[in-house]
Amino acid sequence: MMDNVFFAHPEHISANRLELVDQEAAHASKVLRFNVGDELYASDGKGNLYKAQVSSISKKSVLANILETNSEPEPTIKKVLVFGAIKKRDRLEFAVEKAVELGAWEICIFNADHSERSRINEERLQSIVLSAFKQSKRRWLPEVHYLNSLDDVFDHYLTYHPVMAHVEADNRQAESLSYDKNLLLVGPEGGFSDREVELAKKKHAQMISLGKNRLRAETAALTMLSQFLFTE
Ligand code: SAM
Repeated sequence: MMDNVFFAHPEHISANRLELVDQEAAHASKVLRFNVGDELYASDGKGNLYKAQVSSISKKSVLANILETNSEPEPTIKKVLVFGAIKKRDRLEFAVEKAVELGAWEICIFNADHSERSRINEERLQSIVLSAFKQSKRRWLPEVHYLNSLDDVFDHYLTYHPVMAHVEADNRQAESLSYDKNLLLVGPEGGFSDREVELAKKKHAQMISLGKNRLRAETAALTMLSQFLFTE
C-alpha cells in the first residue's frame, strides 16, 4: 500500500489523528475504495510519513488514527531551482514536474528580461507539484514562488549562493555544490540579458556550462538539477 501515499495538510494532523480532504479523500474513497480498518500512508510535506488506520470514510473526508510516524530531517544542502518564465504552458509544467522529481527544495519562476509574458495558472501548477511529490515519494513538499525579476530573486534568497547556467560559461565539468543553500539559475527561451548576467556576477554567481549544445529552457532546468542529484 506504500504505492499510494496521500497528502495530509499539516493543519489536518493532530497528535494521533489525521484527515484527508478534497481530492485526497475522493481518491481514497472512490478510486482506491479504502474501507474503515484499512491502513494507509500519508505525508504532510514537512518531512513526516504517517502510517494510519482509517476510522471513518466519505467522499469528502477520511479520518485515520496514526499508528506510526517516520520523520526525515530537512536536507542539509538545499537546491532552489530558479528559472525564467516559459511561455508555453506544457513546457513550463514539464519543468515544474521534473524539478519536483529531481529534488528541488523550492521552485522559483521569475519574469526574466527576455521572458515572453503569459499568464501562469498557479493553481494548476500547485496540483502538478503535489502529484509529482506523491509520485516521487518525497517527504518535503517544494513551495513554488513567483517573482518579478532576477533582482527580486536575489533579494528574496539573500542567504543563498547563486549558480548560473550560462551558455557562454567555459567550465566543462559540473562541480559539486559547496554551500548549504544554493540557487540554481536557468534563463528563459531568450536567454539571460547582459544586465542579468552582470547582476549575477555582482552577486558572485558561479557560472556553469551544461554542455556544448544549446538546451531548451526546460531541458536546461532539469539538466541543472541532474548535475547535483546526490547532493543533499
Ligand atoms: N539564445 C539563448 C542564449 O544564447 O542565451 C538561449 C537560451 S537557452 C534556450 C535557455 C537557458 O538555458 C539559458 O539562458 C541557460 O540558462 C540555459 N542553457 C541552455 N543551454 C545551456 C548550456 N549548454 N550551458 C549552460 N546553460 C545552458
